[in-house]
Amino acid sequence: MLTLHLLPALHGDALVLEYGTPDDPHRVLIDGGPRSTTTREAISAVLGDAEALDLLVITHIDADHITGILSLLERRELPPQIGDVWFNGWEHLPTDKLGAKQGERLGELIARRRLPWNAAFGGKAVMVPDGGPLPEITLPGGLTLTLLSPTRAALADLRPVWKKEVEKAGLVPGKAAEEARTAPTDRLGDAALDPAALASTPFEDDKSEANGASIAFLAEYEGRSLLLTGDANDSVLTAGLRQLAKKRGVPAVKVNALKMPHHGSRYNVSAELFELTECDRFLFSTNGAIYKHPDRVAVARTVAGRSPRRLEFNYRTMYTQPWESPRLSRLFRYEMVYAGRPGHLRVEI
Ligand SMILES: [Zn+2]
Repeated sequence: MLTLHLLPALHGDALVLEYGTPDDPHRVLIDGGPRSTTTREAISAVLGDAEALDLLVITHIDADHITGILSLLERRELPPQIGDVWFNGWEHLPTDKLGAKQGERLGELIARRRLPWNAAFGGKAVMVPDGGPLPEITLPGGLTLTLLSPTRAALADLRPVWKKEVEKAGLVPGKAAEEARTAPTDRLGDAALDPAALASTPFEDDKSEANGASIAFLAEYEGRSLLLTGDANDSVLTAGLRQLAKKRGVPAVKVNALKMPHHGSRYNVSAELFELTECDRFLFSTNGAIYKHPDRVAVARTVAGRSPRRLEFNYRTMYTQPWESPRLSRLFRYEMVYAGRPGHLRVEI
């Protein structure tokens, strides 16, 4: 079994990865979405009465990933045993004395509960070392994770903006819904979409230091693989993938499903990402609020490849609907799939 749940996390990410056998199930929680009752309840429902979580990953400090985890930890709603927590906190960045509200709060909670913290990395930063091989970690139950992001440089770049980013995170409660309600209804007609032209829009890299410091990895279990990207910076992620492809002696890394970086932002999805991965299944986690993800340029780049593709979404929104066009899906050979339950996409890999 290798199953990924993209849970209703509004504009953010809350992912539960299940692997193992029915007799010996294992679970990894990756991000907790923004602070939201719906998200918290969805995570708890999937985890059920599990006694243990093999790994908890907080990819980076943005509110749509970290604040839901804070809420779960504060309420003690996570399983009592947590095998390891991967989170690059202030102590894992080059030291300075700036404050970091959410990050420090999370660090405090991890420490107070005596949870293992980056134990797989000897308590140090979860990062791809300069010049060394990509770290490979095998979890109990046999899931192998190959770390692709962040790099030391990306973590160093985060330092000066840490404080600013977490203050931004502190502002989010209530804001998402409010902004979604007042977001302009630029509902696009099918005629407005020209995937070939959109896909050829010159790529510009995401400039957010917090996103650049995202933890991203390839998870592999019994010959199946899943690329989990957080909101990773494209140049960091593709560099990791290039290194992995080289090590394996292949032109592209075989991936059964790819969780789109940064909710399908045009700044995180380059044509190169598709060249470096052999994949036909792409997963989008977002309700489109605030940042209007997925971006049509990113979706166009996704469908512009030569092979037939399957795009799966945990929410159906005004940003996904124009792509339902039968004309476009025939022309570009893609298929759209929505979550059975709004917000909760279950992906068997
Ligand atoms: Zn995000």
